[in-house]
Amino acid sequence: MSFFLEESDRLKALPPYLFVEIDRAKKKAIENGKDVIDFGVGDPDGPTPDFVIRAMRKAIRDPWTHHYPLDRGNALFRRAVSGWVKNRFGRSFDPESEVLPLIGSKEGLSHLPLAFLNPGDVALVPDPCYPPYKSAVLFAGGEPQLLPLKEENGFLPDWEAVPAPVLKRAKLIFVNYPNNPTGVTAPRAFYEKLVGWAVKNRILIVSDLAYSEVYFGKERPLSIFEIDGAREAAVEFHSLSKTCNMTGWRLGFALGRREIVDRLLRIKANMDSGVFTAIQHAGVEALRHSPSFTRKANRLYRERRDALVGGLRDLGFPVRPNEATFYVFTGLPGGRADSTLFCKNLLETCGIVATPGVGFGAAGEGYVRFALTVPVPRIKEAITRMKKSF
Ligand SMILES: *Cc1c(COP(=O)(O)O)cnc(C)c1O
Repeated sequence: MSFFLEESDRLKALPPYLFVEIDRAKKKAIENGKDVIDFGVGDPDGPTPDFVIRAMRKAIRDPWTHHYPLDRGNALFRRAVSGWVKNRFGRSFDPESEVLPLIGSKEGLSHLPLAFLNPGDVALVPDPCYPPYKSAVLFAGGEPQLLPLKEENGFLPDWEAVPAPVLKRAKLIFVNYPNNPTGVTAPRAFYEKLVGWAVKNRILIVSDLAYSEVYFGKERPLSIFEIDGAREAAVEFHSLSKTCNMTGWRLGFALGRREIVDRLLRIKANMDSGVFTAIQHAGVEALRHSPSFTRKANRLYRERRDALVGGLRDLGFPVRPNEATFYVFTGLPGGRADSTLFCKNLLETCGIVATPGVGFGAAGEGYVRFALTVPVPRIKEAITRMKKSF
């Protein structure tokens, strides 16, 4: 026996992390000399822009940034966030009490249930979804109640379908629009209904806005705080990762009224000591330049989307163009139903990595997700390979 301690029930309760399997298969294919085209990872392929690097260079030379960050984070960054939010969504948040820097938004999303759930409490979690919501609820001793996202409902959840006894125990609902993995956005009417329902049922809305700046439609994605009454019922998570090609830097922030932010801060104060101050300084510049960076990045993603969606459609995929995010989420062609098998074959026969929908939850079965983190010529190459083998 190599190790004598059994893993905790907490770890045992986690669903298998499918992406590890895919990663293993991909690495093996590369080792075997295969030319792999990788639509798997949700990580921008471009480098972090120069204006961020320059700000980081400057900040890191200042020894003042080398110490433990303050508990609420750097005041300059919090003020920059508050200004950016006001400019982008037209809502004011007090940088002193309503903005909290995070070590990536995943960190905040994962810590939040610890601040609000007791064992046996329910959290409503969309299916399919970004996997950390479910694990965060389980780690807090909560019970995830899945809300299936169906294509015929625009991949929006139907909370009316939650049985009354379950609803009575519910404390949180996770929503994520623009949505990973489906690529859809939510209309204002959806948020209005959600806020009304959440206030009535005393449920906290956890809005994940990681893709607020990755969009192609005329209408910019909404913040839940653009809805009247949302301040009462919501906390929102933002990220510099996808907005400014900063996934490795780990920088995000939470927005919400003081009571909510303070509870999250108390968890964090006991778990981590905040974001490296130099990175927060770099974040000030990232936010300042984000509108022009975003315009360019979205043009690029749009070209890729059109190339991929056009090609997939010719191949018989029932695909619709995504309005936002850098994901194309589509049903499988030719009556196929098993997304894991489909992706396994795709890698073996075409050297193409895509993510099976079932990896995001049972309701994602029958779908596959392609990340638009691949340049257009490689997208065309992928389509050619698929044409030969389908
Ligand atoms: C990428 C992503 C995040 C988080 O990113 P961080 O790098 O932790 O800020 C959050 N939610 C969704 C849905 C994502 O896809």
